[in-house]
Amino acid sequence: MTEVGTGKPIGPYERLSAEVHEWDPRTVEVAARVGELVRKRRPDLTVEHIGSTAVPGLPGKGIVDLSIETTPDDIPGVVAMLYELGFGPQPGPDPWPPTRPMPVGSIELDGKTFRIHLHVQPKGGDFPRDIAFRDALRNDPDLRSQYEGLKRGITSGGAVEGLRYTHSKTRWILNVYRRLGFAPPPIAPPATIGILGGGQLGRMIGLAARELGYRIAVLDPDEHAPAMSISDSTEVAAFDDVAAAQRMAQKCAVITYELEHVGPGVVAALDDRRRPIRPGPYPLKLTADRLAERRFVEANEGRVAEWREVGSPAEVLSAAAELGYPLRLKAARGGYDGRGQARIDGTDALAELDGRIGWPALLERELAFEAELSVVVARNVDGVSRTFPLARNRHDRGILVESSVPAGVPRGVEEAAANLAESLATSMGLVGTLTVELFLMPDGTLVVNELAPRVHNSGHWSIEGAVTSQFEQHLRAICGLPLGSVEMRAPAAAMVNLLGEGAPRPAHPTGIYEALLVPDTHLHIYDKATVFERRKMGHVTALGSTVDEALGRAREAGAHVGWAPADEGSPTRASDA
Ligand code: ADP
Ligand code: MG
Repeated sequence: MTEVGTGKPIGPYERLSAEVHEWDPRTVEVAARVGELVRKRRPDLTVEHIGSTAVPGLPGKGIVDLSIETTPDDIPGVVAMLYELGFGPQPGPDPWPPTRPMPVGSIELDGKTFRIHLHVQPKGGDFPRDIAFRDALRNDPDLRSQYEGLKRGITSGGAVEGLRYTHSKTRWILNVYRRLGFAPPPIAPPATIGILGGGQLGRMIGLAARELGYRIAVLDPDEHAPAMSISDSTEVAAFDDVAAAQRMAQKCAVITYELEHVGPGVVAALDDRRRPIRPGPYPLKLTADRLAERRFVEANEGRVAEWREVGSPAEVLSAAAELGYPLRLKAARGGYDGRGQARIDGTDALAELDGRIGWPALLERELAFEAELSVVVARNVDGVSRTFPLARNRHDRGILVESSVPAGVPRGVEEAAANLAESLATSMGLVGTLTVELFLMPDGTLVVNELAPRVHNSGHWSIEGAVTSQFEQHLRAICGLPLGSVEMRAPAAAMVNLLGEGAPRPAHPTGIYEALLVPDTHLHIYDKATVFERRKMGHVTALGSTVDEALGRAREAGAHVGWAPADEGSPTRASDA
């Protein structure tokens, strides 16, 4: 049996969306043939047939899953041997890393093409678990029919994207693994959690980690970044410094991040299966690029504003002719808090954009929304998700100024937002928190503006306003712990950001005494060394019996806080002096 053209026994692999088919006995023959091919070259290796095709009678995608276990050092050699047989690298947006690869291929039998996933597992990895799962399914008809029902449910509306299919099964499968004794153990205190990024989000993740008894290591280019003073160890280095990231990772049981702009080289270097990166390398890759993010949202049934990819002012002009003004132009990479964006109303000198916006960029219609909303969802290792109540947000020139909860929208909107957030988190296999920024349109529909695979400014209210804060929830998720309740502690909560004003100078807040006279109000100052115009310096949260009361309190407290002029305020750091 040879593949015409290449002369190799294993044919090419095609990535298709997932559909459920009846079990096909010929898959056993396919597994046996691959086993023989491998045995001829490497008599010391055994190819195990795993997955659904290894369970007689169990319907599934029909892909033949096979698995080889070997020593970590032997993996490159095994992969090279498989490529010689005709296997190729795993396609798709989220392949397994080289330390635990999955070459793919196909075999033709009776005119039918059988696709093959050949997992190559390092000793000490998931090989025994996969065998135990297969054997449990072979031996237990009830388990088999439950699994079949789950698969049919996922594809009841037709074929679904492959990753979505895989991650939708997580919750049930992890439950079975647990029963079989293969549950991943939680990461317990005092393990060290590594945080890429030492801004206020890193600081608040770190503070929550401290409460739970974890230690923290932080990487940030700024030695005075807000998270530095509360960490056990720090690396002062750029977000593309692979050596520094690896130094930090050595101490850590899990790595997380507080921003999307981590260098791809750093992520690749840390993604070595020695410790998880959570929410995950794939969610980071997706959301670091607005264009990839848009395609992902569209592929997962989220609505977005009509958009085009543009690479130059000339392309903006021609795309604008199709979309109509006013427009928003957003650099694909690197923007935040409204930076890296421009509003175009048709009268602009487009040539000026060149210096201001990085290319390629996303060009989209400016929407006349009724409100901006956001939803934070946490998904844990077991695939269980929980969404915080929807927040209503107000922005000023691209920066969040205030959030309030509840959002005051019909229950249907709240549910649609929660379902969308859970479905997006599942589709990217995210473990941790995901924030979905939404526009509520006048007709009550939701449009996705932006995704952030992390805790979010619009979720800060949860520190005092929810039973579990978004920071603790994120930690529970990334450490393999059960998620906490997202119930509110008061009927309403509001958060007002404390933005800097004036020229850059050492940061000394004023008016905090007066601010804290306001009832049910809580102050958070991020301890940034320098204040400047519109910099996020802190926030206040207030609780109340109505949104108006909570917002009124938060605004009143926030209005008291200011920043001392350059020559006032006592220096608190050597660097300020
Ligand atoms: P950032 O990464 O800076 O948060 P966003 O894409 O979320 O970038 O844009 C920031 C803010 O700009 C949004 O919260 C919203 O207020 C406004 N904005 C962005 N895109 C649009 C749009 N298409 N229509 C109307 N307002 C928009
Ligand atoms: Mg945004």
